Amino acid sequence: MGPEVPAIAVEEATRACAAVDAELELLLSDLATWVDADTPGGDIHALDRLARLLASVSERYGLEPELVPSPAGLYLHATLRGPGRGRVALLCHHDTVFPLGTAAMRPFRRDDRRCYGPGVADMKGGIAVAVHTARALATGPRPFELVEVVSVPDEESRPGPPTTIERLESFDAVLCLECGRPSGEIVSARKGAAWLRVHAEGRAAHAGEAPRAGRNVALALAREALRLAELDAAREGMTLQITALEAGEGLNTVPSRGLLAADVRAATQGDLDWVTARIRDFPAYDGITLRYEDLGGPPPLERTPAVGRLAGTAVALGAALGHELGEAVAGGVSDGSWTASRGIPTLDGLGPVGGDDHSPAEYVETASFATRCGVVAGLVAAIGAGLLD
Ligand SMILES: [Zn+2]
Repeated sequence: MGPEVPAIAVEEATRACAAVDAELELLLSDLATWVDADTPGGDIHALDRLARLLASVSERYGLEPELVPSPAGLYLHATLRGPGRGRVALLCHHDTVFPLGTAAMRPFRRDDRRCYGPGVADMKGGIAVAVHTARALATGPRPFELVEVVSVPDEESRPGPPTTIERLESFDAVLCLECGRPSGEIVSARKGAAWLRVHAEGRAAHAGEAPRAGRNVALALAREALRLAELDAAREGMTLQITALEAGEGLNTVPSRGLLAADVRAATQGDLDWVTARIRDFPAYDGITLRYEDLGGPPPLERTPAVGRLAGTAVALGAALGHELGEAVAGGVSDGSWTASRGIPTLDGLGPVGGDDHSPAEYVETASFATRCGVVAGLVAAIGAGLLD
């Protein structure tokens, strides 16, 4: 059974859901404006223009926006204060993977069930949920100390944590607004990744005149690729894919240099440590040196007891609003993975229900906005009522 949900949480969820539903056209027109402004990662001019727009909309809805400069563009931190307790961040990003001109080609559009357009799910729809939840919370009893809408400009390409992550370290929880799974699940666990290369150095020799004098790294790397591939699925949820394999200087030379690359995913940091230790444990190859290069990778979002309480409460709030949510484990990473790795209880997938991210078919379910806003508002109230104590 899920946790006991405090009455104030159900009240705030119901109130926010009804408030957003009553003014759904306002949310959708905000969303249309944001989707129609292309924000490719790296285009600081486009990103900052949208960050400023988000700041002014937040201010109009009762929040106090702050724009924090970073080399990747402005980070938005918009706060709403209340008389209660509980500090909760609503975490979003406003960069997309689509180049300038995409929205002109296929602008925001709706049919009777869904909204479409570049970044509508990943994650401008999530920003709409965050901002409109805050708007609804602002008009109620505010049973929290602080709600902070955070939108970062560089989630899609940044290899490390958000630049302003220190500001979130005193928070009780982070609610990440990446979109919900296509059948409505929230995300209570994300796999972590380890990206790596194995460099090989052998000895070049003429392939016809002196083949025995050479030490062939192509063969060693091929053997390593097969050895590593055995670790795929070695533990529950673990995946390992060889993503590059190359060697060779010329058609008639025994190859002396080469590398392979791999993408490893696992549910826990312990599993990632286990598998990378095995990868590094190279067998001996006569005359060939193998070197492991650690390319980093985001940590897992583990379903800790605190995350489990957040997830159970979200599912119960969804049920109170008449929706079956469910929980899912995601293979991809998000900024929620970084906040989770700092020990801040983090729940993800709270954005609108949607899918087909990073493709022209990307969509969100229009009817899911009000429910998601209700669930997020209810979670804020539940945290304020001591859910995580
Ligand atoms: Zn995203």
